[in-house]
Amino acid sequence: MTVASIASFRRQVRTILEKQQPRRHVIVLGVDGIPYDLACRTWRRARVTRARSVFPTTSATAWLTSLSGESVDAHGIPGVVFALDEAAGAPLIDVYSYRGPLGDPPPEDLFSDAAACGYTPVAIVGDLEDTHCTWRDHLLQRAHAIPGHTFYARGALDPDVLGDRIVAAVAHALASHEGPCLVWCFIDADRHIHHHGYDRQLVDLLERIDAIAVGWSREAVVIAHSDHGLVPTRQDPIVADAIERVIAAEACRMGGAGRTRWLYVEPSAEQRVREALARHLPPSVRVQHADELFAPGSRARRRVGSIVLIAEGEGFLAADGYRFEHGSLTERELDVAVAEWRA
Ligand SMILES: [Zn+2]
Repeated sequence: MTVASIASFRRQVRTILEKQQPRRHVIVLGVDGIPYDLACRTWRRARVTRARSVFPTTSATAWLTSLSGESVDAHGIPGVVFALDEAAGAPLIDVYSYRGPLGDPPPEDLFSDAAACGYTPVAIVGDLEDTHCTWRDHLLQRAHAIPGHTFYARGALDPDVLGDRIVAAVAHALASHEGPCLVWCFIDADRHIHHHGYDRQLVDLLERIDAIAVGWSREAVVIAHSDHGLVPTRQDPIVADAIERVIAAEACRMGGAGRTRWLYVEPSAEQRVREALARHLPPSVRVQHADELFAPGSRARRRVGSIVLIAEGEGFLAADGYRFEHGSLTERELDVAVAEWRA
């Protein structure tokens, strides 16, 4: 069986928008961090199909691909921390706070499709409420934005409270716009999973979403999708030390996020750096050249460092308090779901 890339999500939704007769609202929940197997277990009354995430399995990267249909090479957002142009020695930016130019946004997306098909495009900003940056503009700029509804962003909450908030947010979106609407709503479960994994509270929320979606599906098409899964990850002092040695010896910088990082190394130093890393890193960290992972010359490739480190096991770099991470290429990070509830 071939598995669709999350890049085809936009086309899947467009087909629904074009075919619906009579046209009903289309409600799309973007739930960050949910792997395919968990979606199958908790969204029991939906038709769940498997979708393949992108590399790196970083939220900013995957959501932009999912909503625009563009590859990572094309949209050029390769992770969280990167240089705007490696060759020019540009400063590193953090994509979640950077407000300067990032190049042209994708020319079309889920929201422009909705408008073209006669739906009002609406985005519940949700857990991106406090994330003011150009990347968020690129993601949501073609939608009417609804602020004022956060879920995980301002502290973990009871699943019942979260469910009520999702219902209220979608009701607000539909009541304040002329229909039919396409409403996309961002729920950042990833923030909870980093610290707690796929615990009872998270499973309860997903089951609550299943029940809410069944209720909505009498009047609307209801879809949920995700960007990547997370896997257990811990700080490994040997890995951290090996990377620190290279950074000190070569006076180079590091970018990336989570389980995929890269080093900005001059071409003349690449061989030396690879040998030093091979000497000191455990075999559970894969070292590759960026040209093997991003199309040479593409916008994404120009922004990443040439030596890329990819975690294959649990030990890597981890932020304080994080027990689960993503960004690399394990099956549970790559395998995500598209769920659809129809009455
Ligand atoms: Zn994510």
